[in-house]
Amino acid sequence: DIEYEQTDVSVLIIGAGGAGARTAIELAQQGVDDQLVLGKRGHGDAHTTWARGGINGALGTHDPEDDWTIHAADTLNEGHFICDPEKVETVTQQMPDRLRELDEWGMDFSRTEDGGVDQRFFGAQSFRRTAFAGDHTGESLLDTLVSRAQELEIPYEENTMITRLISDGDSVHGAVGIDLDTGEFTVFNANTVVLAAGGYAAAYSRHTSRDDENNGDGAALAYDAGASLMDMEFVQFHPTGMAVDESDSEWAEWSGRLVTEAVRGEGGRLYNSEGERFMERYSPDQMELDARDVVARAIAKEIAEGRGTENDGVHLDISHRDASFIEERLPRMYQRFADLGVDLAEDPVEVAPTSHYGMGGVSVDEYGETDIDDLFAIGETMAGVHGANRLGGNSLAETVAYGTVTGDRIADRVTGSDANNTIPHSLRENLIQPHLDELRSLANADGEHDVMTVFEEIQTLMWEHARLLRDQSSIESGIDELERVQSMVSNMNVGPVGSESFEFAIDVGFMLTVAESVLRSAALRTESRGAHYRIDHTETESSWQKNIYVEQADIGGMRTWTESVDTPSPAVQAALDEGHELDYHQLE
Ligand code: FAD
Repeated sequence: DIEYEQTDVSVLIIGAGGAGARTAIELAQQGVDDQLVLGKRGHGDAHTTWARGGINGALGTHDPEDDWTIHAADTLNEGHFICDPEKVETVTQQMPDRLRELDEWGMDFSRTEDGGVDQRFFGAQSFRRTAFAGDHTGESLLDTLVSRAQELEIPYEENTMITRLISDGDSVHGAVGIDLDTGEFTVFNANTVVLAAGGYAAAYSRHTSRDDENNGDGAALAYDAGASLMDMEFVQFHPTGMAVDESDSEWAEWSGRLVTEAVRGEGGRLYNSEGERFMERYSPDQMELDARDVVARAIAKEIAEGRGTENDGVHLDISHRDASFIEERLPRMYQRFADLGVDLAEDPVEVAPTSHYGMGGVSVDEYGETDIDDLFAIGETMAGVHGANRLGGNSLAETVAYGTVTGDRIADRVTGSDANNTIPHSLRENLIQPHLDELRSLANADGEHDVMTVFEEIQTLMWEHARLLRDQSSIESGIDELERVQSMVSNMNVGPVGSESFEFAIDVGFMLTVAESVLRSAALRTESRGAHYRIDHTETESSWQKNIYVEQADIGGMRTWTESVDTPSPAVQAALDEGHELDYHQLE
């Protein structure tokens, strides 16, 4: 038998971004000490730190008429009515308190003149609802949560990668992981497991806003454990990734990186190569601040119809604002471009859509629990809050709101039960040992294909077959192509346990699961809705107001099915009926 370390813990939290950290804090505050948080990277280095523009909550700093029901209505509307209303209401109702709490814990929010938490406009929201810390909101949020977690002495294990959950298909018993520093295997024996391992948008090509994380670990681990995934076909293409000259070594590494929505929120305008402010044609009322799917498609159309810029983008221009205003409100963006020799107060920059966020993920109940008992999935790993299109600022909100709700739910259970789960012997024999065998044979495999080549092959496949504008034949040929990539995966050249290529070799497996679930769901949805735009089915069909689910079929392969969406509560329905809408022209 292959040797491993064993750690026994009541609650194991996989992932230490906003969602994992906030869950751990809730547990500790409620007296649950027997918990362990772990992550693939160092403490404080999660994808959450990349979030820039802000975090939503109906505080009403500038617009007192705003409230959580209108926030919920905006979210449902822009999610094209396939969000789960209950989850949306949970998040929007929680957020004013969650923002006040972050303020109390010392988050360095940008302030109004009288010291309140400032709020800015973000796309397709009726009011100024996005609280922010300059344009480094995610970093400030995670710093705040990490400090709070350290005050509460919550244990954190860094550089540990989970490769498999220990599940019998009905309930979870823990997880298998590798210490990426020493290459040692560990089995975590746990009563409750929380997957807060981020999203899957990096399964797309070089046009992505982050690629060393977000490879779908969370979704794939849950799927392998027997849980179902939902809404996987909805991948958000952020309208403004950097469009650069890739032959220029100074710029190449910035290709696809995000130019935060806050640039448009602070007044940035989009122009095509003919100098036309083209959003006037696509969205005369909301202009550049229409929902992300609308703006991204408008940009893609301008480029496809020959009105794009030299580097296949359009221009984003905020030079009508003073340098001091830009430096104060968008300090990181200002600096990034200054370092590249561009002064945002003088010149426009080139932007094009970039893959950014997976709205889909693990299917969970109102507390974040999956169909596998005691396995929770939250933050970007879960599905249901964003539907067909996410509002900017809502995903940081989801991390802290669900962290609180899930932590509270688990605390209720753990305090009432004997925290003593043991992994059944049959799972040690039939799951853990075979999995460790697989990992051993993956290490030092001397196949033909370089791991990073295979990694990029999947990203390119997704970009080509399930991109912003899709159709049945592109999606179906993508499914066929997966077989070819699968054969490359079985023939890779991999370094030892703990090496970077070993880590990415595991990720490649996760990405294949995600890729297949996106393609199969996209093939099924024969309509256009939000981020899923089909050039062969351009209309939104009321008969498709459903969620698509995928799970492992008993006979092998992937099983898909659909379920109808629930109705919102009367309070939120009333806000929808009232029909609030952002008036962009307030900004000018
Ligand atoms: P993450 O922060 O991704 O954390 C995942 C954690 O899981 C990490 O600790 C990681 O190490 C760990 N992990 C992953 N896989 C494994 C594994 N196999 N084993 C062990 N650990 C693992 N949202 C907003 O609301 N507002 C914004 O302004 C905004 N701006 C953004 C800008 C950019 C450039 C990007 C990329 C995203 C932005 N987002 C924004 C989205 C937002 O940042 C994320 O959705 C959110 O931070 C996700 O948090 P999380 O806690 O769910 O996961």
